[in-house]
Amino acid sequence: MSTPLTVDPAARPAPAFLTGPAKKLLIDGAWTSARSGETFETFDPATGKALTSVASAGAEDVDRAVAAARRAFEAPSWAAITPYRRSRVLLQIADVLEAHAEELAVLDSLDMGGPLWMTRWLVDHSVEVLRHYAGWPTKIYGQTAPSDPSAFHYTLRQPLGVVGAITAWNGPVLQLAWKLGPALATGNTVVAKPAEWSPLSALRIGELLLETDLPHGVVNIVTGGATTGEALTGHREVDKISFTGSLAVGKRILEVSSKDLKRVTLELGGKSPTIVFDDADLEAAAKGAVAGFAQGSGEGCVAGSRIFVQESVRERFRELLLREMKAYTLGDPFHPETRMGPLASPQHFQRVSSYLDIAREEGGTLETAGGSEGLYMPPTLIENVGADARVVGEEIFGPVAALMTFTDADDAIAQGNDTIYGLSASVWTTNLERAHRTASGLRAGTVWINAYADMSAGTVPFGGFKQSGIGREHGIEVLDAYTETKTVMVHL
Ligand code: NAD
Repeated sequence: MSTPLTVDPAARPAPAFLTGPAKKLLIDGAWTSARSGETFETFDPATGKALTSVASAGAEDVDRAVAAARRAFEAPSWAAITPYRRSRVLLQIADVLEAHAEELAVLDSLDMGGPLWMTRWLVDHSVEVLRHYAGWPTKIYGQTAPSDPSAFHYTLRQPLGVVGAITAWNGPVLQLAWKLGPALATGNTVVAKPAEWSPLSALRIGELLLETDLPHGVVNIVTGGATTGEALTGHREVDKISFTGSLAVGKRILEVSSKDLKRVTLELGGKSPTIVFDDADLEAAAKGAVAGFAQGSGEGCVAGSRIFVQESVRERFRELLLREMKAYTLGDPFHPETRMGPLASPQHFQRVSSYLDIAREEGGTLETAGGSEGLYMPPTLIENVGADARVVGEEIFGPVAALMTFTDADDAIAQGNDTIYGLSASVWTTNLERAHRTASGLRAGTVWINAYADMSAGTVPFGGFKQSGIGREHGIEVLDAYTETKTVMVHL
């Protein structure tokens, strides 16, 4: 690997949003400091410099935000307005985000190190997602049930109430849009808590929401870390937690929210298999496999971090993989040729690096497309490890994948499923029968065939089997996640 590409510091974007005093919390349509006055800094991983400081919300602030969300839910100005008016507000939100798409992408690149081409795509996708959900309010139906002629039985779909939306640092705008879209379309109100490593775009979105007709208090934004998240999860007036993040925190969310039996959606981690059959277009499969674990520096829940290739084509496929890995140029998120930016923080770099040491201790051999520098880490392939190795079992969340082999489709399915996770998988083959049989056998929420990480903007469900989560975002399924069904039985 050559030295990571750099950008003249004077040419790096400096959004006006970053100037001025510490960013505040959005509660009931107004910006307010944390009651404690505490703040924390958020850093640019490419330069190591602080970007700005942000209010650190305590339990008292979460309480204020939840109270505002509750009032907004009970007021006649949101859940009770016509579905058409709610659609119009969602369209306005999509429009205002689209008008500021570049700024939001820049904020995410600065905050978490993702290359600008990727954060631009994530923001465009988020706008499309919001427009998708803008179509829902007018299409949410209850049912009429067969009943005795002396009765009339029907169901209503009603919002849950206050939704706590807790998100991870790796896709800030996208994850917020995935939660705001369905929560608002179904008439809920929201307290959002973005991740402490990348809270800026959510706060800017908060400002943009104030330019729309969204009533005050319908969306509130509290910033902070675990303490803030835990206060939200444990709050009695929160009806649902929609969480995107790690397995460990997901388990904690279930524990805390069980106290008052909140509804919970969990979008957690993965250790997704990429399965390459001997009849596949190996060049395309190698491109897909490397994109699967290296795109976005591997900091993606759907990262294809276990690659299984059919024994007979291992050598050829390995050559192609190594060649493709070298094409992943590391550099400043704002350099136009950058494929991979820095990892999101020094702590995260340390964590990912420690897995490379673990791989060596476990007897693995490592092929990297160059050396690491600063927080930049090139794609790394680990070989000579088996299912019992920690690097094969645990989510690394960096540009690291293990390469293993399989004999036939049954073996590929068995090895692909040999994980506690079940978020996604990709299958590369030109044989239709193999493709569908393998897709059917894999215990994963999404299976891509001859593709990797295609993301639908709302139409198909997304979520995990096993310990990759509970529930689904998107698709028809998402309505169950954000509404209660009420049965009404009328005696005529
Ligand atoms: P994390 O679990 O450490 O943090 C996620 C969020 O939870 C943050 O906002 C954090 O402040 C908050 N939090 C931390 N402790 C909490 C607690 N006790 N109570 C309530 N909230 C708490 O995850 P991360 O490091 O930000 O993100 C990486 C993880 O997210 C990876 O495991 C990745 O696979 C997963 N992820 C999953 C999806 C998906 O859709 N399945 C998408 C993106 C990321």
